[in-house]
Amino acid sequence: MSGQNDVRLLSLVVPCYNECEVIGKFFQTVIPILESDEGIRFEIVCVNDGSTDGTLDTLVDISGRDSRVRVIDLTRNFGKEAALTAGIDEALGDAVVPIDADLQDPPELIPTLIARWREGAEVVLAQRVSRTCDSLLKRTTAAAYYRVHNRLSDLRLPENVGDFRLMDRAVINALKQLPERRRFMKGLFAWVGFKTVIVPYERKPRVAGASKFSGWRLWNFALEGITSFSTVPLRSWMYMGLLTAFFAFCYGVFIIVRTLVLGIDVPGYASLLSVLLFFGGVQLVGIGVVGEYVGRIYDETKGRPIYLVRRRYQERRQLGPLSNARRVIELPSARRLSKNWR
Ligand code: UDP
Ligand code: MG
Repeated sequence: MSGQNDVRLLSLVVPCYNECEVIGKFFQTVIPILESDEGIRFEIVCVNDGSTDGTLDTLVDISGRDSRVRVIDLTRNFGKEAALTAGIDEALGDAVVPIDADLQDPPELIPTLIARWREGAEVVLAQRVSRTCDSLLKRTTAAAYYRVHNRLSDLRLPENVGDFRLMDRAVINALKQLPERRRFMKGLFAWVGFKTVIVPYERKPRVAGASKFSGWRLWNFALEGITSFSTVPLRSWMYMGLLTAFFAFCYGVFIIVRTLVLGIDVPGYASLLSVLLFFGGVQLVGIGVVGEYVGRIYDETKGRPIYLVRRRYQERRQLGPLSNARRVIELPSARRLSKNWR
């Protein structure tokens, strides 16, 4: 890290999907906290992930009055992972902090994150000490998920850590080299490594609005995490196959011996049918698992961009209260993750 007097740029990346109820409160809370640290400049990169309410208008309005707020408007809802990717790609800061718009990630923690960063950490993780605001079901399934994920995958996911963290520019540049289109950000963040410290925090309930992650969406998210970072589910089918082949062989020997000793035994319809159905089921599940990975290969080979930008909004006025002219900058809208970007 360089000298204490450097004024460094911090980028907050805020994915927003139908957050019109909370977004005003978000800025009211966050901006004074960021302003209180004189050692940094900041920008807030808001990614509008295809909201259908007034989120975009609110964001554009705020960015028109505050040149530190930028808005990236995606062409449709691409999902939180893609929106985060967009924000991280656009952020210019020496450090980047992804943060939810609903104030569940406490902005009061940002000064602590910055302090650890100044002390030399490249990644500062914010870890939830308790999940009391989550339902019992969500808590137990989350705990079970981390156990399963960490057992199946070579990559260790730190428990109870969301996307809220501070990452140095070096980490962001490393992240930008990861080309996958199916993005499980938590895993990608962990995959790049770097010098990491953990800061505990208390996660609060949402200020307003509703969670965008239903049980079904979370389940798919969980599967995504495992298939992104582990091929154990694929490999396990080899062991499954070996095991069933072994039992089938034993049973075959038993039938032959019994036929030789006791003669031909015609009944057997029930056992035959149940064995047939059982193996039919086992095979279908196996094909399903293989299919999951083939699907991923298919998605990756299409090579489509992760997100498309409709427009970028930023006030270009140099902090003069006299000029009200608002300009909208148009930049090329699609981009693929390529090495020659920026
Ligand atoms: N989000 C998004 N796109 C989506 C879903 C969510 O950008 O398709 C944003 C959302 O606006 C919020 C953050 O991701 O800023 C976290 O969403 P939410 O609070 O619904 O998730 P939860 O806290 O319940 O896990
Ligand atoms: Mg939330």
